[in-house]
Amino acid sequence: MPSPATLTVDLNALAANFHTLEAIGGVPVHPVVKADSYGLGAAACATRLMAEGARTFFVARASEGVALRETLGAEPAIYVLDGCATGRAGKLVAANLRPVINTPEQLAEWKGANGGACGLQIDTGMNRLGFRPEDAPEPFDGLELVLSHLACADEPGQEMNGRQRMVFEEIATRYPGILRSFSNSGGVFLTPGYGFDALRPGISMYGGGPEGRPDPRLKAVATLEAEILQIRDVPVGESVGYSRGFVADTVTRVAICAAGYADGVLRSYSPKGQVFVGGELRPMLGRVSMDVCAVDVTGLDVSVGDRVELFGANRLLDDAAAAAGTIAYELLTSITARVPRAYVG
Ligand SMILES: *Cc1c(COP(=O)(O)O)cnc(C)c1O
Repeated sequence: MPSPATLTVDLNALAANFHTLEAIGGVPVHPVVKADSYGLGAAACATRLMAEGARTFFVARASEGVALRETLGAEPAIYVLDGCATGRAGKLVAANLRPVINTPEQLAEWKGANGGACGLQIDTGMNRLGFRPEDAPEPFDGLELVLSHLACADEPGQEMNGRQRMVFEEIATRYPGILRSFSNSGGVFLTPGYGFDALRPGISMYGGGPEGRPDPRLKAVATLEAEILQIRDVPVGESVGYSRGFVADTVTRVAICAAGYADGVLRSYSPKGQVFVGGELRPMLGRVSMDVCAVDVTGLDVSVGDRVELFGANRLLDDAAAAAGTIAYELLTSITARVPRAYVG
């Protein structure tokens, strides 16, 4: 018996997207599996990606790297994007993780621990993590990868992309022979010139579009479904849910579905949320509550126990995110632990 709400992850689609991104970018993909593979489950996703040939992975935190090392074994390189804060090098060394060094303090911590292989982040204009080019350290032992991150990769027309690319290209010449990685998902589609030696996509591997819409060559990976718990006909003038968020001006057949904000179905779906049910997209009605949401199923042939799709092949993740006033990244990483992940492939 499936759980009332499930997140199904299609690992074949993930594998296909991995290869598609490599083909588009023309250089190897080093998958980003931070935040538990954007909520889809890093153990399953990274294991499959490794079977598809990936040998270098990125996480955000050391704790994520420790878990990933246990899952994947000794072979792959695992980079930790937030680097190595003072006092933390030991934890990274113990799990054979590679910090992406962002500051002089991190570099001192890593050298002090005789840390070995690591990466270096250059800030080419985003003003987030990394050394400004003029402060970048001399090449040092253990340095294997130099990276930078695009601020506007999801806007192909944004002139800042080209500026960041030029800054990166130039600073990278200071580290001859060191692997260069520049592009996240959006950057993959900015080619030519943005690939350098290795790509670092996250969201597009998981089926989301860098521009709020997936490239047609990418497949949906994640499907969030919820069971219909009850169906009722709401008379004219009556309301549905908290705060009378929906008032029926015509008799309305309403399906109460097992997905609420405690599952990660954002309350901000009101008033624009839609779900795929009975072969079509139907509006959510009123407020999303903790455990359930209401959907207009007037005129549809649906029954208790049927499942509605909140996002997946029929309701694009990016469209669902837009309806909730957010982006695919946040929608995926909001799905809570109450929702079991089921894997296909
Ligand atoms: C999260 C992240 C990525 C992946 O970004 P997507 O837009 O999901 O492809 C790549 N590089 C860095 C530094 C990141 O923080």
